[in-house]
Amino acid sequence: MKQSPFLLYSDGKGNIFEDTSLYVCGRSGWDAMPVENEEWIELPSGGQLYELPNRRGIGTDVISGEMRLCEKGWAVAAFIPPAFTGTYLAAYETLPDAETLPLFCYTAAGWYNDQFYVTAIRIEKDIRQESEGFDEGKIESGVKELLSTYKHNRLVQHLANNCCLTYHCPAARNYFMGRWECPVPSSPACNANCIGCISFQPQEETIVSTQDRLMFKPTAEEIIEYTVPHLETAPFPIVSFGQGCEGEPLLMWQTIKQALLEIRKHTKKGSLNINTNGSNPGAVKVLCEAGLNSIRVSTNSAREKIYTPYYRPNNYEFNDIVESLKVVNDFGGWTSINYFVFPGMTDSVEEYEALRKLIKSTGLKMIQWRNFNIDPDWYLGKIGVTDTGECIGIRQMMDLLKDEFQDLKYGYFNPSIERIKGDFEMDYAGA
Ligand code: SF4
Repeated sequence: MKQSPFLLYSDGKGNIFEDTSLYVCGRSGWDAMPVENEEWIELPSGGQLYELPNRRGIGTDVISGEMRLCEKGWAVAAFIPPAFTGTYLAAYETLPDAETLPLFCYTAAGWYNDQFYVTAIRIEKDIRQESEGFDEGKIESGVKELLSTYKHNRLVQHLANNCCLTYHCPAARNYFMGRWECPVPSSPACNANCIGCISFQPQEETIVSTQDRLMFKPTAEEIIEYTVPHLETAPFPIVSFGQGCEGEPLLMWQTIKQALLEIRKHTKKGSLNINTNGSNPGAVKVLCEAGLNSIRVSTNSAREKIYTPYYRPNNYEFNDIVESLKVVNDFGGWTSINYFVFPGMTDSVEEYEALRKLIKSTGLKMIQWRNFNIDPDWYLGKIGVTDTGECIGIRQMMDLLKDEFQDLKYGYFNPSIERIKGDFEMDYAGA
């Protein structure tokens, strides 16, 4: 790319224009800055553009090079699709009466050569959530068939009516297409109070959660009934406890333990994974004994002082999540972190050092570099961060960690057992 893309602005009615008097800037922490040309890639398919009401985009003047606001309209940001990680946030100035933005990611976006560009990197080659890969006809017939097969299974009804047909959850859509990762939500409650929780937002907040929490406690029988056939028949099968439409699955560890034991009595196929806040290492140990072979612990940071004001845990502490990773590692299981990437926080020197320590102390196998779906100003304000400190850049950080930890894997999704035990870099295209 020979030059920076031009800044984008909207007329507030959903129409987006380029301002050819300004090169677009990116944001890291609280700071706007010019972005190197090699950071930009074409907006991937499945990506979307958002207008940000009562926010003015920041760019550098193409003639003077001076940084200034675009007064022509509202700022614009990109929601980049899963499998891609954003390396800069959209840069804008927030006007006094701006409302909190909904729970999406806001990546820097610009216009160049008749194309939209974003600051992102493809971190995952797995195609399981590529929008082109979803066949509506297959999904519809899958929903019909499985709803009639499991007439009395409340979980399959929840996955069909809520997750697949209402929220369009990619995991549920893959389940009804009979492939890959099968979701198992199980917990109506949680022992954390994350500021950006996607399944529960307190009344006093102006933003809403993107999906509602499960309203019932499934039985082990309901879980086993639809997961065993999936493990037996689906390509690259994974059963994943812990979904966006529930609270914390470890609060249901007794039911999950029963399910795991029964599942493994029926089949040895696939990976049995849990996506969790990692709050109860004792329960994790019991689940590993019952057959769990993979864990993904969510975190916004490897630093306790950044983690706690965001997760606001009820009855556990940061060190418990570290212990949960160690427990699975001791069982020889696969350990990932669901790492919420926030340019300016994630790539700060302090965070980089803390993450190195976490990788060393837990034997971490994989980092899932996930875009943080949250209003940047709101997030930093809520956790009380006024200065993010010196930063090294997201790409630079990824490279440094890869150099130091040669076996450490990167991605966006939980790997299948075929990738865990076999060739991690294998191609999914044929599945
Ligand atoms: S751990 Fe998950 S369910 Fe619980 S508050 Fe946080 S985001 Fe919400």
